[in-house]
Amino acid sequence: MSVFDSAAFEGHEALHAFSDPAAGLKCFIAIHSTARGPAAGGCRMWPYATEQDAIDDALRLSRAMSFKNAVADLDLGGGKSVIIGDARTQKTPEMFRAFGRAVEAVGGRYWGAEDVGLSPADLAEARRSTRFIAGLEGHPAASGDPSPVTADGIARGIELCVRRVLGRDLAGVRVSIQGVGHVGGYLADKLAAAGARLTVADVHAEAAAAVASRTGAAVVPPDAIFDVEADVFAPCALGGAVNQRTLPRLKARIVAGGANNQLADPEVGRALYERGMTYAPDFVINGGGIINIAGEIRALERGGAFEAAWVEAKLVRLTATLDQVLEQSLRDRRPTHEIAIEIARSRIAEAGGRAAG
Ligand code: NAD
Repeated sequence: MSVFDSAAFEGHEALHAFSDPAAGLKCFIAIHSTARGPAAGGCRMWPYATEQDAIDDALRLSRAMSFKNAVADLDLGGGKSVIIGDARTQKTPEMFRAFGRAVEAVGGRYWGAEDVGLSPADLAEARRSTRFIAGLEGHPAASGDPSPVTADGIARGIELCVRRVLGRDLAGVRVSIQGVGHVGGYLADKLAAAGARLTVADVHAEAAAAVASRTGAAVVPPDAIFDVEADVFAPCALGGAVNQRTLPRLKARIVAGGANNQLADPEVGRALYERGMTYAPDFVINGGGIINIAGEIRALERGGAFEAAWVEAKLVRLTATLDQVLEQSLRDRRPTHEIAIEIARSRIAEAGGRAAG
């Protein structure tokens, strides 16, 4: 099928394909929109079964980055890159230097960062061939690990949802967290410090045990997290946590967490809304990480140092946008994820973008 006529490509500005056989690199860089600024989004390395699967993933993820960057009010568009290969067995420094050359060839219309399969060392290698890589460590503009900032934004979002829906602060509020890796672990610390009562689950039992010993959280087996008596359910593992099978089991009135693509499909978002539950759209509430990366891009472009105060101002604005989403959902009696996408689209359109697909 033609790329241009595919539903996945709709609304995109560009799809670049790069091959460097000597370096073992095959990658795609998808640019959904540069209306608000250069497209920014991570690079994923994955053993895609076919090139079409890799293209579809790059296009889907770059569109999602346009929306995430717009709701975070960043002067960035949406893009994403994917490298075809197995991150456990096929990585080489040459591959990432070649990836850096591919990013360089796009001429600053795309900024790359870390995503599934990449490490800070891979990014550092890529950065030897281009300056358009962010999310590094060890230089004055560097933003470091985005996870604590992501968790900070989520904690603020949960506090906001609890205030709006339950009319109270976090003290004594019961929060169940699925997945206590980087984001879920920092989130647990923040919520516990605010007096929340936690239940956590992780397929990696040691991770759950470590969080429990720090925060006093109860631990349940991974599949039992959906049945916990809680006020807030915070998915912080992989996508699809809220689906037709798990939704009827959830007791929480609020779903708010860090994972990307929490809703298995848009219909489950509507079903969640019709059950009277409040959903903080994932691409709004988890925007802290990309805000942190944007802080680095900004510093690199200005030739200055990373400014934590700028990141803080953007986090405040992000929470205000979530408040706007919740308010508009109440007023218009429509699900929050539909409202959030409309806000993102209108911000992209205001900046002169097509904002179609
Ligand atoms: P991570 O790999 O450090 O943590 C994920 C944790 O979830 C792991 O401990 C893993 O064992 C656990 N897990 C996996 N499947 C599970 C299951 N079925 N039940 C219970 N636990 C399970 O990843 P992370 O960086 O903390 O990211 C978590 C989520 O947040 C991902 O969806 C990621 O895309 C998203 N996200 C992360 C950031 C960031 O700054 N790291 C920013 C935005 C969004």
